Amino acid sequence: VLEAESFCDIVREHARLQGSTTAFTYGDETISFAELNEGSNRVAHGLEALGVKKGERVSFLGKNHPLYFEALLGAAKIGAVMTPVNWRLAAPEVAYILADCEARVVFVGEGFADVLTKVRPDTPLVEQVIGIDAPDHAGTDYRTWRDGFPAIPVSANVGLDDDALQLYTSGTTGRPKGAVMTNRSILSSRNAADQDEMRKWQEPKEGDVTLLAMPCFHISGTGTGIGTMVAGTNSIVLPEYDPTKALDLIENYNISKIFLVPAAIQILLNHPRISEVDFSRLQYITYGASPIPLELMKQAMEVLGCGFVQMYGMTETSGTIVALDPEDHKPEGSPKMRSVGTPMPGVELKIIDQDGNELPVGTVGEIATRSSKNMSRYWNKPEATTETIDEDGWLRTGDAGYLDDDGYLYIHDRVKDMIISGGENVYPAEVENALYAHPKIADVAVIGIPSEKWGEEVKACVVLKAGEALSEAEIIAHAREHIAGYKCPKSVDFIEALPRNPSGKILRRELRAPYWEGKDRAVN
Ligand code: ATP
Ligand code: MG
Repeated sequence: VLEAESFCDIVREHARLQGSTTAFTYGDETISFAELNEGSNRVAHGLEALGVKKGERVSFLGKNHPLYFEALLGAAKIGAVMTPVNWRLAAPEVAYILADCEARVVFVGEGFADVLTKVRPDTPLVEQVIGIDAPDHAGTDYRTWRDGFPAIPVSANVGLDDDALQLYTSGTTGRPKGAVMTNRSILSSRNAADQDEMRKWQEPKEGDVTLLAMPCFHISGTGTGIGTMVAGTNSIVLPEYDPTKALDLIENYNISKIFLVPAAIQILLNHPRISEVDFSRLQYITYGASPIPLELMKQAMEVLGCGFVQMYGMTETSGTIVALDPEDHKPEGSPKMRSVGTPMPGVELKIIDQDGNELPVGTVGEIATRSSKNMSRYWNKPEATTETIDEDGWLRTGDAGYLDDDGYLYIHDRVKDMIISGGENVYPAEVENALYAHPKIADVAVIGIPSEKWGEEVKACVVLKAGEALSEAEIIAHAREHIAGYKCPKSVDFIEALPRNPSGKILRRELRAPYWEGKDRAVN
């Protein structure tokens, strides 16, 4: 496995050795590894015929679809780079990404032809649009186009250090940036690592079925699909997350693994049928992408009763670099449950100060990481790249955290969200956890607002549970019982709902914006 030059080689091997095994399931449709391999060969020839060259980007705008993975594989076979676009974005944001990645060929999914038509004037480089199961699309049909080319392999010189995938970051702290992953970063992130080094929950088992429910425009979705392609197992693809469908599939298929963001776990737990569903065949729910409230985690363990694995990582690290094993999840509460776990094999971690000096165990600073999973660069952003990756290959995550004596990593917050009040660092998550424990508080985000006296002061933006009443003074008093005075909010805004992106990440910059108009924040 380690001799592979790209994940395409591994899929080719699966096609040769177990061609009839199902690679993807989508509704009633299944695609075997042999079909996936042949289909992607045809796509590779098709892209070549369109003049797409090694190193060029192709894009996909649509909901999750197995043919997205076939197109991704076909592109990778000629060294072209799939760059999916978040379909939830507004037209100008889609235009920004399509223009930024310079894609000349765009695959479009059902329901998105209109958006693409709208952005065409602003994306002059786009020459060819191919519709994947998009009856609303009048142009070239993917299946017809693909089937016009031979199924024989393409000859192309594509190696470990060539670009293989480009995903845009979630845009939580600013405009999304294109993170460029090579074949090496993808392979070392998936199950292609030495089998002996794998964590138990990582080992692929024959007959494993993974439910792919998170979006492919994020590393969570595409990473899951590439992971099962490399493992040689079946992914059931949902166009988008749907708790009812997820529960049906968990009941009726032997789903062994599913990755969900905390917000999706919350939705699942609130489903009216949740207590009727048998979760005993589900081996693991892996979760991550944003902090999970401890209460929610405990509830999930109690109700679902399967194994849980927390993952920490980012687009820039091709996904997971740190994980918390099922053994560290204990229903009665484990001291390690507040951590995101220990580094995956081959991953180095250190905590650094602003100047890049390493900090001792137990001290909060910025998390830096080094491994072959790291992206090679940000696309078209040489300055951002040098700010993020140093000469020795250490990547600054932008997250604040600390390591304990056993090497477990604790995430505090984004460095950009940290509040500096009267010279003390306040981490919003710690304050939020204290407030979240209040029975009348449904949701809460903590931000720093300008203060003449303190530089910044702590403000809590609180969503109350339906029908509950609570005053600013009561909330501040509650905080005082749990955390140090300087960490307590000085003021409270009551709001209807927190601004979150679809992965459930709180957009604190949106809450901050009105208070900082015309002023500069120290950490922005
Ligand atoms: P942008 O970089 O554009 O601001 P983003 O950082 O949200 O957006 P992603 O790469 O999708 O984009 O997300 C990675 C980030 O998600 C991490 O840097 C971290 O802040 C957060 N994250 C990931 N996993 C966890 C986890 N298990 N617990 C807490 N936070 C997590
Ligand atoms: Mg980020």
